[in-house]
Amino acid sequence: MGQKHQEIALVTGASRGIGAATATRLAEQGFVVCVNYHSRKDAADAVVSSIKATGGHAFAVQADISQEEEVMALFACIDTFGIPLTRLVNNAGILFTQSKLVDMNADRINKVLLANVTGSFLCAREAIKRMAISSGGKGGAIVNVSSGASRSGSPKEYVDYAASKGAVDTLTIGLSKEVAEEGIRVNGVRPGLIHTDIHADGGEPDRIARLTPRIPLQRGGSPEEVAAAICFLLSNDASFSTGTIIDVTGGV
Ligand code: NAP
Repeated sequence: MGQKHQEIALVTGASRGIGAATATRLAEQGFVVCVNYHSRKDAADAVVSSIKATGGHAFAVQADISQEEEVMALFACIDTFGIPLTRLVNNAGILFTQSKLVDMNADRINKVLLANVTGSFLCAREAIKRMAISSGGKGGAIVNVSSGASRSGSPKEYVDYAASKGAVDTLTIGLSKEVAEEGIRVNGVRPGLIHTDIHADGGEPDRIARLTPRIPLQRGGSPEEVAAAICFLLSNDASFSTGTIIDVTGGV
């Protein structure tokens, strides 16, 4: 576990679900992991404790990544460790109760876009400032967590969320070309139906069971299966991949 003790990996929304599994895996690889969370301090502290219990290094930082000043404070906190940030996982994401577009108001749509799109843009911006070779950084890698929803469009459930993930995919494509010469790779992962709390936020905790017949592999995925793809793209094993998006959807 020793070789990456001098590098920080930031995972946004790492207190639960896919983010927690990714933080755990990155700590196993030797990164000092920043476990960002929004409101569940208990859950974030549990992830950090679990990492420390197995000899890893992690710290939790509260920040609502949809708010620019909180993103600035998050990165300022990371800077105090005096260790370079070389990995960012833009994982934090939200959705609201399943609904048709005709029943959505601007407040809901804006909240989804702020968290999923603006938050990813702001964290990428701050990470690039620190990773860019021309700014004295060591280079690095970013993975943006999108969704299979960017391809399906999520009709009658959350077209707002699906569209936000379409924007995340486009961020991955454009930014990968923009920062390649700075030694920074930018890739994406599109999870399908993964067993986490997010489905309850949509008002249907058992959504995966309803939709399993449509999944070629005939089951939902685990957060760990998504974390494996994220960590591959962050690793040097993916050193010639940038602007790539991996589907982790069981064949959907
Ligand atoms: P989850 O279990 O609902 O966890 C969401 C995480 O994001 C929590 O750690 C939460 O923090 C954090 N978060 C939410 N809003 C935030 C904000 N404004 N600032 C900082 N952190 C925030 O979600 P998940 O299912 O693991 O999803 C992770 C990512 O995968 C999301 O981008 C999601 O869109 C994507 N995805 C998930 C699925 C799926 O089936 N699960 C499928 C496709 C894509 P607190 O604990 O403090 O609330």
